[in-house]
Amino acid sequence: MKALTYQGEGDVKVVDVPKPSVKDSGDALVKVTLGAVCGSDLHILHGHTPMNTGAILGHEFVGVVEEVGSGVRRFRPGDRVVASFFTSCGHCALCRKGWFNQCTSKATFGHGEYFGGLGGGQSEYVVVPLAQHSMEHIPEGMSDEQAIFVGDILATGYFAAERAEIKPGDVVAVIGAGPVGLMATMCAQLFGPARTFVIDMVDSRLEIAQELGGIPINAKEVHPVEAVKSHTGGIGADSSIEAVGLLAAVDTAIQCVRGGGTISMVGVPSAVQGDFPYLHMWMKSLTFRAGWCNVQAYMRPLLDLIAAGRLKPETIISHRMRLDDAEEAYRMFDAREATKIVLTP
Ligand code: NAD
Ligand code: ZN
Repeated sequence: MKALTYQGEGDVKVVDVPKPSVKDSGDALVKVTLGAVCGSDLHILHGHTPMNTGAILGHEFVGVVEEVGSGVRRFRPGDRVVASFFTSCGHCALCRKGWFNQCTSKATFGHGEYFGGLGGGQSEYVVVPLAQHSMEHIPEGMSDEQAIFVGDILATGYFAAERAEIKPGDVVAVIGAGPVGLMATMCAQLFGPARTFVIDMVDSRLEIAQELGGIPINAKEVHPVEAVKSHTGGIGADSSIEAVGLLAAVDTAIQCVRGGGTISMVGVPSAVQGDFPYLHMWMKSLTFRAGWCNVQAYMRPLLDLIAAGRLKPETIISHRMRLDDAEEAYRMFDAREATKIVLTP
């Protein structure tokens, strides 16, 4: 089968690899019908996330179940499914506490042997281990494009907004208008903020943020922290969401909130090293939350919100390309020429 593979820093290639097969009773073999390129793939591309040469990329995908192991009862061949970007067992001590992203048997798709040695979704087929607890059915009538982001960036945007503790009438600042920042902007609206400022340097992305209810701030034109403060009587936002994963963005997220406010960080800090501003955090009584999304907790409710027409995550798709052109897709996404690319095998 065809799959996009990591060949070294800055180098990904579509190559022929053996088709994977069901080995464990909890496995499901999924024929991928749509994959997507994520900001986390760029961390791999740039060598900031460790990856072994030859490993298959891609952790956002939907598809059709082709075969299941004997222990998989929720899914049957022919079922349309969306997978979380990581697996969880559903019954370890941490899953039972509802922290599926801390599952003791967790592994991440498309991240090679350092993250559990799974396959990836930028390919024709992928095996989903612990399938019972790592996938959801796509409701009838819902397209692949509507469902795909439930397994990663939409769930992450919701998780980010929920953990920002947004109350009706609040002012929120979203740092980064990449796909994750855009999803956070969209999901923040479910919590009723009066104003959602969105900070980035890419005009095309800020325009989408505006369509989703955000007020754009271009950090190339104004100092973002001063801009947020000047719009809030010098006080700052009630909460901020960091959706970049760079030190400058984390710094903006911390500096632009008011005393007693909350910072919710979802950007992957794979290349971030810096001092944490302990004194500032203490002086201003700030709450800082960070982490990768607890996807499995949100998939079902998010599918319901999409089915009800209350969330339209597919609106951020800017490019539809073939898996064969995945190398070019990575180049375009990395150059910010595309906002979100989906790939058809
Ligand atoms: P992306 O790279 O497409 O978007 C990042 C955006 O941030 C870009 O538009 C860029 O112009 C902007 N930016 C860069 N520096 C900035 C700054 N200092 N201030 C404001 N904006 C700045 O990536 P994405 O797909 O949107 O993902 C964003 C981050 O979220 C990545 O780090 C990704 O790895 C991470 N992520 C986390 C989770 C999770 O579970 N926590 C899930 C998915 C993605
Ligand atoms: Zn991702």
